[in-house]
Amino acid sequence: MAENLTMVPVNEPVLDGNEKKYLAQCIDTGWISSEGPFVKEFETRFAERVGRRHGIAVCNGTAALDAALAALDLAPGDEVIMPTFTIISCASAITRLGAIPVLVDCDPDTWNMNVAGVESRITPRTKAIMVVHLYGLPVDMDPILRLAQRHSLAIIEDAAEMIGQTYKGKPCGSFGDISTFSFYPNKHVTTGEGGMIVTDDDALAARCRSLRNLAFSPERRFVHHELGWNFRMTNMQAAIGVAQLERLDEFVATKRRIFARYTESLGGMRGVALPVPTTSYADNINWVFGIVIDDGVPFDAIEAMSRLAKLRVGTRPFFWPMHEQPVFRAMGLFAGESYPCAERIARRGFYLPSGLALTDSQIERVCDAMSEVFA
Ligand SMILES: *Cc1c(COP(=O)(O)O)cnc(C)c1O
Repeated sequence: MAENLTMVPVNEPVLDGNEKKYLAQCIDTGWISSEGPFVKEFETRFAERVGRRHGIAVCNGTAALDAALAALDLAPGDEVIMPTFTIISCASAITRLGAIPVLVDCDPDTWNMNVAGVESRITPRTKAIMVVHLYGLPVDMDPILRLAQRHSLAIIEDAAEMIGQTYKGKPCGSFGDISTFSFYPNKHVTTGEGGMIVTDDDALAARCRSLRNLAFSPERRFVHHELGWNFRMTNMQAAIGVAQLERLDEFVATKRRIFARYTESLGGMRGVALPVPTTSYADNINWVFGIVIDDGVPFDAIEAMSRLAKLRVGTRPFFWPMHEQPVFRAMGLFAGESYPCAERIARRGFYLPSGLALTDSQIERVCDAMSEVFA
């Protein structure tokens, strides 16, 4: 009976490398705050892995975006072009500065921002483009880089879901003037909660370091010329991060195996679209195994998820578009705007259990449940 089965969790991380050993070092030495040595080590190793000069560890990926946007010195009324289909953190980092998110729809197949739709959104007030690589495939960067250069726009790159991913062989996180990552437990590398800002720009890096640490003045602690945040990462989080990063290539391979099994089992299933496995610029890094239900199927993602839950399979819905967010509508943003691709996949998209600890027998149970729901 399904009721007696344990739930297949939507995500479970793998923590059986050096995590415990490094954490014990934090406790044994008493270095548990952000002043401990793992923080620097994690920043250095992570920046190296992404091919950047600076890494600034912070307490989560949302904080990384907040600090990164603040470091760019956007003024109220400045516009930042971004995808409507993403997490709220991307847009809130913009609106908190009084700047204005200007949206583009997503691509119906890759779910990433529709690159061809960016240029028509540029105005004299546009200051930056925020690219967000989603669910496993990077945004097609070359056209964005050309536009940014031609119009002197900054690029903010949210690479939270792309740890270990490349675009045309170059690491994701190496394309933004400033790029950010998250280490939430469903990301390829986790620190429980955590984030990282990376950049090659010395001034931006210094600004982010200051903003994450309450913007203390160098000349006199507790005197402040601007307002920062306490976004510091603890030595304990960084200790886990160092251990996780040691296994990144193995984790990427594990995800590929999980996705290959899903694709093999679900490939012939009618009524659903599966993730695009590869494009001319990247192979899918398989952050989560997303499903979009065909329009001909008489139920939506919420119904499919509830049927799967009865069969003890955990799922998550897709993001909800920024232009349909009550909080932004209440602020008077995006009135009358419509982005049909994002609206469709927000209603018909969800993802299956995709964590690194997923076993073959769990995958089989998920696929059996999918067959039952989409029979
Ligand atoms: C996870 C994620 C974030 C937010 O990271 P948190 O660490 O949860 O704050 C931001 N952007 C994207 C694209 C994400 O997937």
